[in-house]
Amino acid sequence: MSQETIILALTDRHTAQLIAQGTLVPAGYRYHIIEDPADLSQRVNQADILLVDKNFLGTSTFQTLQAWHQAHPQLRTLMVTGDTTPEFLLAALRAGVSDILRPPLRTSALLAALGEVLARRNAGAEKAIPATPPEAQNQIQAFERLAEIGKMVTSALDLDAVLNSAVDAAVALTDAQEGNLLLVDPETNELFVRAERNLGDEFARVYRTKVEDSLAGKVIQSGEPLLISRRGPQKIKTAYLVHALIYVPLRRQEEIIGVLGVDHRDPRKDFTQEHVMLVSALANFAAIAIEHARLFSALQTEHDRLNTIITHVGDGVVVLDEKQRVLFINPAAADILNVHAPGQASGRPLAEVSEAPEFLELVNNAARYLPEQEEFRASDGRFFSVRWAKIPGIGLALTLHDISYLKELDRIKSEFVNTVSHDLRSPLTSVMGYTELLERVGPLNDRQREFVQRVQLSVQNITSLINELLDLGKIEAGFDTHREFVDIGPLVQFVTDEMQVVAAKKTQRILVSIEANLPALLANPTRLQQAVENLLGNALKYTPAGGRIEVRVYQEEQQVILQVSDNGPGIPLSDQPYIFDKFYRASNAPQDVPGSGLGLAIVKSIIEAHNGRVWVESYPGEGATFTVVLPTGEDTRKAQSPRNHPAD
Ligand code: ADP
Repeated sequence: MSQETIILALTDRHTAQLIAQGTLVPAGYRYHIIEDPADLSQRVNQADILLVDKNFLGTSTFQTLQAWHQAHPQLRTLMVTGDTTPEFLLAALRAGVSDILRPPLRTSALLAALGEVLARRNAGAEKAIPATPPEAQNQIQAFERLAEIGKMVTSALDLDAVLNSAVDAAVALTDAQEGNLLLVDPETNELFVRAERNLGDEFARVYRTKVEDSLAGKVIQSGEPLLISRRGPQKIKTAYLVHALIYVPLRRQEEIIGVLGVDHRDPRKDFTQEHVMLVSALANFAAIAIEHARLFSALQTEHDRLNTIITHVGDGVVVLDEKQRVLFINPAAADILNVHAPGQASGRPLAEVSEAPEFLELVNNAARYLPEQEEFRASDGRFFSVRWAKIPGIGLALTLHDISYLKELDRIKSEFVNTVSHDLRSPLTSVMGYTELLERVGPLNDRQREFVQRVQLSVQNITSLINELLDLGKIEAGFDTHREFVDIGPLVQFVTDEMQVVAAKKTQRILVSIEANLPALLANPTRLQQAVENLLGNALKYTPAGGRIEVRVYQEEQQVILQVSDNGPGIPLSDQPYIFDKFYRASNAPQDVPGSGLGLAIVKSIIEAHNGRVWVESYPGEGATFTVVLPTGEDTRKAQSPRNHPAD
């Protein structure tokens, strides 16, 4: 019976107990279980074998082990770890670890390892450590080579270099004469030489063989390594005469994509199972490198394809980082935004490379406010619809779509509507005048009087529609240039006071909150009042009886913000992009609520003529909030010279 002492230094105490009682005691070993790493140094001098797991000694495991092995030549160490990377194995060998055991520890494997390590020690096969024995020297050399190739696989992008190194290493570590890495061509199901050593360039270039006709093909089909040694079967079916060979499969996930092989033509040389393991490790690296290269090339192709598409689309595309530096700009956008050297724009602030101040202002606002779409006029007169999306972790992506033709159509339509409205006004005035005169020229009976009243009401409706159209025409055309300093607070208060009567009739409540000391705005008071009336009017009109309307006015930095919200039916999401268009009524607008669809178009024109912005936020069933942002201070002064508007 053995009387050697085994020290168990395992992180899991329960496992240590099981091993001690279930394996060591029945086999006649003595044991100590160490729980605190600090106690270990006192115990190792009495131990024959230290069974330690990778984590037990913490970060300086290998240094500690090396010191103990030097101080106690009788000590042998078995390490329990799942980490079998070449770097780790190399470090373990250098620290004098005799063997590595992978969890879970099986009784038979553990006893075999203990027996072998002790037998080697007692036979003096392992000289004092760290004077490394010759076979360990070879192992160290092998692991060093593997570690080197492992590093290459993760750092080098040159697939040829990695594969050639893998073949070279296979040849060197197995002392073979030749080595080759064969891959399967999936189209022809043939094997071809992807990398070789000592095979000869010419042969490597032309060599092709059907998978099913070759020894390498057998490995591909079986997925198992093949070792033919001198002592094994001699009939070797390869295209050339060899006496011993190893082929191991190259795996990509479940698929076998090729083989790595080494051979001897010299009948005196041979291979062992250890060589098979080494070549297998190299084959794994080669397979990883091939997979990396495949993924990289797929990624590159996809990247190039996307790049070509985005470069050639007619729309402008700009991507900015969080600090408004250009990450990407396509030629169309570079042209629209006057970027002179698009090739050098990358990484520089947009403000530095582009001469389009209005676009920069739009980008500034894009980061802070809704909506996610705006119009922008380029310096060459073209109009663009700019849409943007915030991309988490990247920044802002903007697309610019040319809408000049739509603008032109819009202008022609507006001109036509203006002319027609104008021409309709005089005849309508006469119709109204004559209906008023009718009663003076002779008595009317009750029915006739009722009909005349109906005619008058209809004429009034048409006249107010025409007035709205003419108003819109004037604002859009930029004729409305009157500006004075306006106190927005009292103006909003006045409008809400006026509307209280209408609200009271519908038992609605209007809540008003106006911040004190708001700055005066350089604006047209009549138009601003009209905009507020339209927004508040809509809120009252569309919110059912008993509803609640809130009006808020406040300042934020250089802007005055007006918000009108209600708890009415809201606006369907699909209608929201269009409700500021002329004559547009949302699909949920009730039939019995009168309206021309011009009110919000007028609001938008007025606000834009004041260099402001207006948008809606609404979820159906949860009411709607209209927000108007008007610039103050510096920006307000700009309002004196109206912007070049489409209809200018
Ligand atoms: P209208 O004359 O139809 O009121 P507007 O241009 O003022 O025209 O408004 C356009 C459409 O937007 C309306 O027809 C209505 O469908 C919708 N809308 C405007 N304001 C509201 C609101 N506060 N609540 C619900 N829908 C609204």
